[in-house]
Amino acid sequence: MNDHDRDRHHDHRRLGRELGLFDTDPLMGAGLPYWLPDGAIVRHTLEEYVRQAERAAGYRHVYSPVLGKRELYELSGHWDHYSEDMFPPMELGAEQVVLRPSLCPHHALIYRSRSHSYRELPLRIAELGGMYRSEPSGVLGGLTRVRAIQLNDAHVFCTLEQTVEEARAALDLIGSAYADLGIRASRYRLSLPGEGGRYVAGPGLWRRATALLREVLDGSGIAYEEAEGEAAFYGPKIDVQITDRAGREATLSTVQIDFHQPERFGLHYVGADGARHRPVMVHRSVIGSVERAVAHLVEEHGGAFPVWLAPVQLAVLPVSGAQEEPAAELVRRAVAAGLRAELAGPEQGSLGARVRAARLAPYQAVIGEREAADGLAAVRLRDGRRPGALPVGELVRRIGERAAARGVRLWESDAPA
Ligand SMILES: [Zn+2]
Repeated sequence: MNDHDRDRHHDHRRLGRELGLFDTDPLMGAGLPYWLPDGAIVRHTLEEYVRQAERAAGYRHVYSPVLGKRELYELSGHWDHYSEDMFPPMELGAEQVVLRPSLCPHHALIYRSRSHSYRELPLRIAELGGMYRSEPSGVLGGLTRVRAIQLNDAHVFCTLEQTVEEARAALDLIGSAYADLGIRASRYRLSLPGEGGRYVAGPGLWRRATALLREVLDGSGIAYEEAEGEAAFYGPKIDVQITDRAGREATLSTVQIDFHQPERFGLHYVGADGARHRPVMVHRSVIGSVERAVAHLVEEHGGAFPVWLAPVQLAVLPVSGAQEEPAAELVRRAVAAGLRAELAGPEQGSLGARVRAARLAPYQAVIGEREAADGLAAVRLRDGRRPGALPVGELVRRIGERAAARGVRLWESDAPA
């Protein structure tokens, strides 16, 4: 296979359709993919992983609506500085409502809805929420350029003194998630404003935010490049870049320091001195959009997901109809243990055909006459290895251990990856 074939082979759009992960329909619209059951499992597992990592890092989750009144985006600055990327407003009686272009304004309002003491800071609000971008139809495709985005987003409201530490902790969280997911950052970019009038706030605030982000990157010992014209309209940001197999670069994760929106929304906290102070807003995303993250994982693994993400973790194959019952019992046992297991019986074809059809499942358990008599299953690993016959309870236990460990190792005896 040459490089070109390998790229094509790993194209997430092709694999997505072939493996039944996601698809599109012209009637739903371009850039609006839907998720099929196996793709939904990968997405759900990834989302739950991120929520758990965020909970462990002190974030608390909220839900907020995907629509907001036009006035909300006028206040946030999106209306003036970001409207070309937004859907046109909808008339609703005397009001205009807009599909939101980001989650920040909603989280600013959630912060503002209660009074806060300095003792509550840093306050970390996270959400996996929908947002929308009016991408031109020519650039839409697969999961990487979409109009409806599920964003892994969070906003940390903190004091100025806490800002660098919070931004650094966000970078650490990104790093540990990449290690768990097998994602490699191709480079770190400090994105600064460029020429033109797209940006808000005075140069003083930009200089301050940029200096803090440099401090974060330098303190973390991370090599980075500065890029003009890549900042958000309200502030500079650290972009974590990934590269696909065709060499195309994209931003997956971001950390931003924002003095602007706390001003616009009039946010404050009560300090130790009893006076009102302005918090800083740190915007950060660990895996960016769920769509882009899944597209990247599909391409990285060529559809052969690590055990914990695999739509089907264990395929159970009775050799003949006589072993259907013990095979079904193994599936029930695995499902009861929280695993994703499926039965592939003889009605689905010859044993060889069923083994090939289940080739992306990390584990196959073949049950013949001898195995059935002894309560065993002959184990095949996705990489072609055959560890031999194991008692079915032992097999379920081992797969459960591999899934919980979240690594890419298939078998206990493998060297850690
Ligand atoms: Zn934000």
